[in-house]
Amino acid sequence: MQQVLGGASIAGLFVMALSLGWALQTWRNKRRSAQYRAGKLAYRFCPNCSERLEKRMIEDREKLACPSCSFVFWNNPIMVGVALIPFGPDGKDGIVLVKRKYNPRKGKWALPGGFGEPNEHPEGTSKRESGEEVCLDIEIAYLLMVDSPPDANQTIVFYIAKPVTTLPAPGSEAEEARVFKLDELPEEIAFSTHAKAIALWKTWLSKPELIPPWLKIA
Ligand SMILES: [Zn+2]
Repeated sequence: MQQVLGGASIAGLFVMALSLGWALQTWRNKRRSAQYRAGKLAYRFCPNCSERLEKRMIEDREKLACPSCSFVFWNNPIMVGVALIPFGPDGKDGIVLVKRKYNPRKGKWALPGGFGEPNEHPEGTSKRESGEEVCLDIEIAYLLMVDSPPDANQTIVFYIAKPVTTLPAPGSEAEEARVFKLDELPEEIAFSTHAKAIALWKTWLSKPELIPPWLKIA
């Protein structure tokens, strides 16, 4: 009987150790993701030649650089292209939002957008991401704003698309896609920068004199 109990407790301890290990790994991964997003994660080895990187002062700023090749980890902001897509014949019936399927901010509503591909123009990023996330083939009408959030190492370029009358549909990386009237927006928008862009668009619509005269959205 004691042996059985002893066996059970060893199995129990083993399961507990596995669970703890899994929880620790999950916590580490989440922390590293947050650090990466904030631009605080540093390379240790050169992605060109695998040499250990060293700290070097370049133009009075400390960078990680490779002693064997020319690689310098500049840690430049990542470009993000986002589209505010007005809905309706005159673009005043609402905007297209996507419900995020994955973290960060899984389950929250955001404007369609995402990271730029290599050598991609932000306009191209916004168009491509709109196709991928809300299944709409958009045309860019105007640059709405550029933002750099304090908690992410990103340069976010927001465009206004020409209004659409086709209903959006969720792409493979979206949980849901739909049109929201501007006075019936979700309580919480996934990112404060997106909320800022939407607020700016609402201001423009309420004060047509703010809209650049050459912007023909209708
Ligand atoms: Zn190197």
